[in-house]
Amino acid sequence: MNNNNNAIDNEKCAYLTACTFLVESQKEMPELAERLKNSYCMKNYRACARTVVHEALGLVAVPDQMMPHQNLWAEQILADAGKGSFIYNNGRKRGRENNSQ
Ligand code: SF4
Repeated sequence: MNNNNNAIDNEKCAYLTACTFLVESQKEMPELAERLKNSYCMKNYRACARTVVHEALGLVAVPDQMMPHQNLWAEQILADAGKGSFIYNNGRKRGRENNSQ
């Protein structure tokens, strides 16, 4: 994993083959799925709202219909669970700030 927060991650999402949203999108909307896969899953998965919620609260907390760009929704879910809020880095949402301390 890249520790340089200013760099775009060139790692694939760990949930690539198990992500129900991506798998279903590839069946139902293949062109959109390919764009999302190239924008998020293959290189910038940390910006994906689904990944953020999954890593903070577990897969059960990820709404089935949540799309990768729905960061405000993810932020609200984390805030409701008392898990902090997103922090910005280079103008992009990159991760969470833990407010529990
Ligand atoms: S949509 Fe998000 S959680 Fe699903 S595989 Fe892509 S980056 Fe991972």
